[in-house]
Amino acid sequence: MNVQTKFSEAASSLLSSASSLFIDNDFRAPKTGEGNPIKVENPATLEALLTLAPLTTADVDDAVAAARNAFDNGPWPGLPATERARLMFKLADLMERDAALLAELETLDNGMPTVLSNHMALPLSIEIMRYYAGWPTKLDGRTIPATPGAANGAPTLTYTRREAVGVVAAITPWNFPLGMAILKLGPALAAGCTVVFKPSELTPLTAMHLARLIAEAGFPEGVVNVVIGEGSIVGAHLANHPHVDKISFTGSTEVGKSILGAARGNLKRVSLELGGKSPVVVFADADLEQAIPGAAMATFLLQGQNCMAGTRLFIEKPIYETMMAGIEQVAKGLKLGDPFAMDTMVGPLISKAQQDRVASYVVSGVEQGAELVTGGNRQGPGHFFEPTLFSNTSADMRIVQEEIFGPVISAQVFDDASDLKALARRVNDTQYGLSGSVWTKDLSKAHGMAHLIRSGQVAINCHGAVDINVPFGGMKQSGWGREYGEAALDGYLETKAITAVF
Ligand code: NAD
Repeated sequence: MNVQTKFSEAASSLLSSASSLFIDNDFRAPKTGEGNPIKVENPATLEALLTLAPLTTADVDDAVAAARNAFDNGPWPGLPATERARLMFKLADLMERDAALLAELETLDNGMPTVLSNHMALPLSIEIMRYYAGWPTKLDGRTIPATPGAANGAPTLTYTRREAVGVVAAITPWNFPLGMAILKLGPALAAGCTVVFKPSELTPLTAMHLARLIAEAGFPEGVVNVVIGEGSIVGAHLANHPHVDKISFTGSTEVGKSILGAARGNLKRVSLELGGKSPVVVFADADLEQAIPGAAMATFLLQGQNCMAGTRLFIEKPIYETMMAGIEQVAKGLKLGDPFAMDTMVGPLISKAQQDRVASYVVSGVEQGAELVTGGNRQGPGHFFEPTLFSNTSADMRIVQEEIFGPVISAQVFDDASDLKALARRVNDTQYGLSGSVWTKDLSKAHGMAHLIRSGQVAINCHGAVDINVPFGGMKQSGWGREYGEAALDGYLETKAITAVF
């Protein structure tokens, strides 16, 4: 497999001037540099991209202090809403100017195929920033017809104000680095919060360039600070920090639970976007020309490293063989390889650990009696893994219950489509509840099933229908709160009620 190793001058310059700490609009050296350096690799070639000096908790304290100062004493929450909006629009314009570089960086450290980084990740990230740039000028409260006893019958005016929560620590994963960053920065900045942003240490490149753009846009010092370091040190310290008011976390359910514990000390607000094991339910009357590629890409997109991945496939009996043969054909036809090649649809997994994890799930699937239809193998030189399809799976198998976060579909058959409630019990037999899809031409079956699935988002005749205006988030152990759309703002705002007696 021939994998590109060259990158642009702009990317080289970022790599050679890299720093793990951005505070008050400046890149700084960490205070002591003690600890394990952060090594960032290209997952397609295994080439070392850069080594960052590690941060200690003292560096994190400095970042929090800068954000605290920008919130308590600095101008950010007090700036006119029009000015906050202007700066956010400016940032979106700069992201658009540098879209080619940002897409290149996303593909370099994440392995995302260039077709996705250029045509999906960047346009969506810019659109999200613009969408939230429109919000500072639209955050209004209500007037309420109240008759409080304390007024002794005098006329009153009661109204609510929506005020920023304060200092937000935004902690994000490696699977969609820039998009995850903007999904947190957008609503946090629109609400008037200041931010300490901790990207995944595996994929810090777009965060580093974003920091430069924040300074160039002219945001006041301390409004956005970036700390790049290990989750167990930097992330955990943020989650524990007494001067952080809110944690906005996207990542695994396991780490999400540890964050909840850490946040208890000062009762931080917490929002959690966690793991998933989403169902794809295909009825016999579905349009198979749509359902076959739709069900395949519901998992194979981004190598299955996608929280919405539709990895539990339920197919009605009469079309089971046709669907499985179709998905097998899609899996075999997807070009796996150099993520910088325009026709590549499957890039590498993020790391050796992730490749080992996926491989061990394939072994467990076979051991528990599932039939491996296609895939199941590593490919080199990087951390590649073939799109994989299992047949004859059942709810007691680990490949059906646990989030693999790799390109592995586990299919099962159902044969009584008339009892939607019984089918829903099978479909909902998981700790997760993030996404899902239903494929049928029958409107009442489609909406009936969509209502019964216990997930934050269900799509009909497509999968992962993410849109900037549509709330997205998890039920059950897939999380707390919503991102995207107006709903995301709720997580960064407090409601204050004010009553005047006159
Ligand atoms: P992860 O939980 O290992 O890490 C996420 C982030 O948390 C990273 O920045 C990491 O450094 C940090 N972290 C690790 N330990 C920490 C600790 N003890 N305290 C504070 N921070 C800590 O997840 P990952 O492997 O980076 O990403 C994959 C997971 O993310 C999957 O479970 C996936 O489903 C989930 N995810 C969810 C969504 C969603 O919207 N629901 C979106 C993308 C990814």
